[in-house]
Amino acid sequence: MLDVAREQSPSTDWLIQVLKRSESAGYGAVGLYLEHRFAYPSAPWAAGPGALSPEAVREAIRSAPGVRLIPFLNTLGHMEGFIRSEGGKWLAEGASTGSQQACPSNPRVVEFARGLITDAMDAFSDEWVHLGGDETWQLGQCAECSQRAEKIGKAGIYGEFYGPLCEWVLDRGRRPCLWADMLIEHPDAIRYIPKQTILFDWHYDKSPVESASQFREMGFDVVCCPAVHTFDSAWCFLDQTQENVDEHAAAAIETDSLGVLVTTWEYSYFTNYESTLPVIYACGRRLSSGTDWSDAIRAEGGEEYWRAAEILGNQIPSLSPFLQKRTWRKFRNALIFGQNPFYLWLDWGEEACGSVGDDVIRLCMQVEDLLPEEHPLRFPARLYRSGVEWIRVVRDAHDQYRAGDLAAARYTLEQGCSWLEGLRPDLERIAAGGGSSADVGRLRMLVEKVRNVSAKIGEVEATHQGVAHLPSFERLVHDAYVIGDQAAWRTGQFR
Ligand SMILES: [Zn+2]
Repeated sequence: MLDVAREQSPSTDWLIQVLKRSESAGYGAVGLYLEHRFAYPSAPWAAGPGALSPEAVREAIRSAPGVRLIPFLNTLGHMEGFIRSEGGKWLAEGASTGSQQACPSNPRVVEFARGLITDAMDAFSDEWVHLGGDETWQLGQCAECSQRAEKIGKAGIYGEFYGPLCEWVLDRGRRPCLWADMLIEHPDAIRYIPKQTILFDWHYDKSPVESASQFREMGFDVVCCPAVHTFDSAWCFLDQTQENVDEHAAAAIETDSLGVLVTTWEYSYFTNYESTLPVIYACGRRLSSGTDWSDAIRAEGGEEYWRAAEILGNQIPSLSPFLQKRTWRKFRNALIFGQNPFYLWLDWGEEACGSVGDDVIRLCMQVEDLLPEEHPLRFPARLYRSGVEWIRVVRDAHDQYRAGDLAAARYTLEQGCSWLEGLRPDLERIAAGGGSSADVGRLRMLVEKVRNVSAKIGEVEATHQGVAHLPSFERLVHDAYVIGDQAAWRTGQFR
C-alpha cells in the first residue's frame, strides 16, 4: 500500500512503473491510500494541485493488468485534508489538535462518504474497496454524538456509521474493507459490521495473531498488516521492518487469513519513496518466495544499496537511544516537525557534539562512498549528517554568545545555516518527482527561524550595551522568546 495522501503527486508513469515492479517482486495487489489526494468528481473543491486523477488510475490499471489496484479511502477518521479546506469545514466532528474526524451523526457526512466511494468505484475496477475507518479518536465529541454515545456508546456510533455503509457497498457488488483498530478499541461495534467485510488488522510493533484469530473465529476474512518503518524513523528501521513483516506472514498462515498488506506511510517531512522502494519490493519477494532478507534487498536495490541500507537502517539507529528503533522519529521530530531547527540542538546536542556525532558522520561518509551522487539513498545520509553538523554550528554559536562575542555568534549561525540550505536541491528534486510538495516550504521555514534567531541576537546586542545580563541561549532560540522578557514564561508553556 502506497500512501499518496501525504502531499504526494505521483505521475501516471511512476504509478505504472511501481505496479509493474511490485508485480515482479511477487505482490498480487497494490493499494493506493488516497484520502483527499484523489480528484473525486463529487468533491471538486477537495482536489489540490497534483491530486491523482481518475484518468491516471484507469490508465495505470490498463497498463499493468497483472496486478490488482485497490483503492484505500478514508470516510470518517483522517479527514483532515477535507476538513481543513474551505469546502469541507462542515464535515468536522469538532476541534482537534491532531487528525480530524467527520461527524458520523450528520446524514450529509454519510452522503459525502458515499460520493467518495462511488467516485473510487468508477475509477478502480477491483472488487475490494477499502473504506478506512481507523483512528476515529473523536467519537462522541459533538453535542449530537455525545447524546447518542450515552445510549449506544462509541461502539454504537461507529457501528451505526460503518455497518450500513458496508452494506451499501455490498449492494453495489463490491467488497468493503475496514481497518480493524477501532473494532479492537470498541469491541461491541463489530456486531454492526456485515460478515463479508474484510478486516485489515494492523500492528506495527507486534504480531497480529491474537486479534486476527478472534476476527477469524467470528467469521471475518482478515488481512494482516505490518509496516515499513519509515514513518517513525529518520529513514527506515530496517530490522524492525523485517521482523514486523515476518511476524505478520506467520500470523496470516496461522490464522488462515487472506494475506499480508505491507503498509508504507507518510513519505513527507524529509522522507521519500524513491529511497525506500527497493525495501518495499524486497518485502514482496520475502512474502511471496521466502527469500532471505539480504538477498531480497540486493535483488531489488543492488549490492551497494543493500550495504548502504544496512548502515542507514541498522547501524546508525543503534548508535544512540535518540536514534534507535521503537522510538518515535526523534531526530525528524526535533529537526523538522517542531518547525525550529534549534530544537535538534536542545534535544540531542551533547551526543551529536561527541563521539556519537562523529560516528554518524563517519557512517554517512561510507554511504556517500558507496552510492553515486544522484542516488536517492544519498538523501537520508545527507539528512543525518546535516543534522549533526548543524548542531555543531549551534554549539559554536552558543560558545561565542556566552563569551559575549554576539557578532561572531550571528556570523556563525548565518554561515552554518548552509547545512540546512544544502538539503534544498534534494527536496526540490523529490517534489519534482511526485514526492512531498510541502517539504521545500518546510525547509524555508527552518531557515527563516535561523534568521529570526540571528536577528534576536542583534537586538540583544543593541539593547544590552554595558549590561552584564544575557538571556540564556536555550530561551533565546525558542519561538516564544521576546527580547526584554527576562523571565521568559511563554518559553516554558509550549514545547
Ligand atoms: Zn458528531
